[in-house]
Amino acid sequence: MATKVILQHLIKNPDRLNSLVNEAKELALQLGIIQRTHENPNSSEVVTYAPFTLFPTPVPKAALLQALAVQTHFNTLVNKISQDPDFLEEALAGTIQADDFTAKLIGIYREVQQEGRTQSIVVGLIRSDYMVDQRADGSSSLKQIEINTIAAGGFGVSDRLPAVHRHVMKSVGLLEESKCIQDTNRTPGMSAALAKAWELYGQQKAVILFLVEDVQISKLSHRYIERELWKRNIPVIRRRFEEVSRKGFLDGDKRLFIDGLEVAVVYYRYGYMPDNYTERTWDTRLLMERSLAVKCPDIATHLAGTKKVQQVLARPGVLEKFFPDQPQVVEQIRATFAGLYTLDMGPEGDRTVAMALASPDEFVLKPQREGGGNNFFGEDIVRVLQEVKRDKRRAAYILMDRIRPRTEQNILLRKGLPLKLASVCYEIGVCGAYLRHGQEMVLNEAVGHILRTKSVEHNDAGIIGEVTVFDNPLNI
Ligand code: ADP
Ligand code: MG
Repeated sequence: MATKVILQHLIKNPDRLNSLVNEAKELALQLGIIQRTHENPNSSEVVTYAPFTLFPTPVPKAALLQALAVQTHFNTLVNKISQDPDFLEEALAGTIQADDFTAKLIGIYREVQQEGRTQSIVVGLIRSDYMVDQRADGSSSLKQIEINTIAAGGFGVSDRLPAVHRHVMKSVGLLEESKCIQDTNRTPGMSAALAKAWELYGQQKAVILFLVEDVQISKLSHRYIERELWKRNIPVIRRRFEEVSRKGFLDGDKRLFIDGLEVAVVYYRYGYMPDNYTERTWDTRLLMERSLAVKCPDIATHLAGTKKVQQVLARPGVLEKFFPDQPQVVEQIRATFAGLYTLDMGPEGDRTVAMALASPDEFVLKPQREGGGNNFFGEDIVRVLQEVKRDKRRAAYILMDRIRPRTEQNILLRKGLPLKLASVCYEIGVCGAYLRHGQEMVLNEAVGHILRTKSVEHNDAGIIGEVTVFDNPLNI
């Protein structure tokens, strides 16, 4: 690859490298590819560029197209699961005995189910993540890592990164290659689903509430979505859990109000990890779920994104139940599944334990957590399983085949990170948007792709922006 040769050349010419890197960073700043700093996470006085790769990374075009092509089916699948209480209860029965967080979510789910759902509109803004598994025989195949059904990010500030990569490619004389970098403009598509939900809610003065984290590093990314909404004259407010907890209430018709404003849509950009909650804000989550506001996602859709559900979907015959007359759809979805294994109590779970202990390097052990940095690899799998293997605590986890992605060379740009040539691997994310009204899917789209790249020295992707950086596929 031409970029490989150029990278070698740049590493040997630090002056040239520094000047190219500075140019890339400055263009990123000019284009709004920015984020707050870890030192001052709640200040907009000092910002930095959002981390990115100096060059786009080669990605097999077929893998990217395959991931995009299957997305509307994943949207449909998540939507169906979220409406199937028997499936959710059965899939998560063992998990909730071992995992307190999932148990809390199911508790809210059951309360809402019992009370009867007040709102029949649901918005799904999801991201399905993949790695390209490189087999020993040289062939490769697209494998899903997970589906994110709550607070799926990555679009926003990174939308304009193709312009930076095109410029870098042109600067090093790769004019033809620069033309192969596609535009990615995912934010309008994702925002459109929120806008449509707001319209259907039908109250011009009602707002879209972004439920946001306490430490708002990615606030500037959210702002891109907010701007899309304001452009359509849709008012947006941002509130932390604690603020909704103090000031939010439901009226007699279960309409949600905060600060004198009626809430048409609750868009969760927070609430996906145990430490996002206090005793009090668990009640706030319930309050919002019970309300007439449209949720993105509702509690059932949140549960549909658990690792346990992912594992159950990979069992023989399960996809067929969701797509009874569509064998091609089943096949298309299943083709992206890696091996996934139960750790529920019973002989099947026992076999999983034995298999993992015998060859821990072949697997990843995953708890029901989101946000990066929670999975176990190699000897850590042995340590954790030795401790929990004899009792129901093991059901908090699932086991997954470890994907061995092809490695590429690139230079990662992040504030404070020394410049060096790194062996990297990437994860393709596909953004999906859908909207259900009653029984009908009124919108179902594959909005676009996101590429996130990390150094191969990290097993897990870690916390947002600390390990992975934004990237673009250079189609090969
Ligand atoms: P999270 O919800 O925390 O993002 P993921 O399932 O996406 O959990 O895993 C986090 C990271 O761990 C991924 O981004 C990827 O880098 C790595 N990872 C997860 N599953 C696998 C796998 N099966 N093989 C190799 N790496 C994996
Ligand atoms: Mg992930």
